[in-house]
Amino acid sequence: MKLTLLPLAALAAVASAQNQPVLGEDTVKISEHVWAIMGWPNIAIVVGNTATLVVDTGLGPRNGATIARVAAKLAPGNRKLYLTTTHFHPEHAGGEAGFPPNTILIRDAAQQREMEARGQEMIAMFAGRSPQQKELLAGATLRTPDITFDTEAAVDLGGATARLLWFGGAHTKGDLLTFVEPDRTLVSGDVVQNKVVPNIFGDGGTPSSWLAVLDKVQALNVLHVLPDHSAPGDGSMVVMEKQFIGDLRTRALELKQKGVSADDAGKQLGAEFKTRYSDWPNMNVAGFVRSVYAER
Ligand SMILES: [Zn+2]
Repeated sequence: MKLTLLPLAALAAVASAQNQPVLGEDTVKISEHVWAIMGWPNIAIVVGNTATLVVDTGLGPRNGATIARVAAKLAPGNRKLYLTTTHFHPEHAGGEAGFPPNTILIRDAAQQREMEARGQEMIAMFAGRSPQQKELLAGATLRTPDITFDTEAAVDLGGATARLLWFGGAHTKGDLLTFVEPDRTLVSGDVVQNKVVPNIFGDGGTPSSWLAVLDKVQALNVLHVLPDHSAPGDGSMVVMEKQFIGDLRTRALELKQKGVSADDAGKQLGAEFKTRYSDWPNMNVAGFVRSVYAER
């Protein structure tokens, strides 16, 4: 019986990089101005001639401090450090306290409202998941941003510009996208991922608002994509995300029309999409199908 555990252990080892909540200092270059620390979640560091922007904090202050150290190493001469967060969940925003005190924190107003309403509650929830997460989240604080914006803020980094964009609700209400020019690199959070079934958190977005966001993303003409919980890729990830959500929504609405229950539709479409998108590692579509059923 022990032998059956071996392949599982091997699989777990392969997947573990993306599940690693203690971030290391190794970086991967995504494009001319963009580096990434790969982990849970992936962190983007955008380096200009005069300023640096970090996207996401990691889980808790210790990870935040690691990222700040890496950012300083990548661009020792840059005197300004900006920080933004893809959404308000603790592994993306709960490490802010680890950054230097003069870090300029900036996020969209929709995300900040979610943070004020539920940020603390989410930190407590994540801390309850394991002793490790509890330890990492010790000392996590949620300070008021220096800058909030409604739909777009352009951060001039010197020779590169990061456009911080709020296109509407998707995974959460406040999903923030970072589009780096001239690289045409999108730091996509959960909004565009690499072969990962989308997930709407609570009353975050809806399947149709997510599709509307993707229409706007498509208009950016993206060349590189760095998602938060999967591997980086090229602009075809945007098309793939749109196709998958559109497909799943269409099929779920057909089954709803026929009177199939949401639970049964989830099971049926899980099997159907496993065949249709055979190279996706996971095909648990039940949650998203429920979101489609709930929408209308
Ligand atoms: Zn999330």
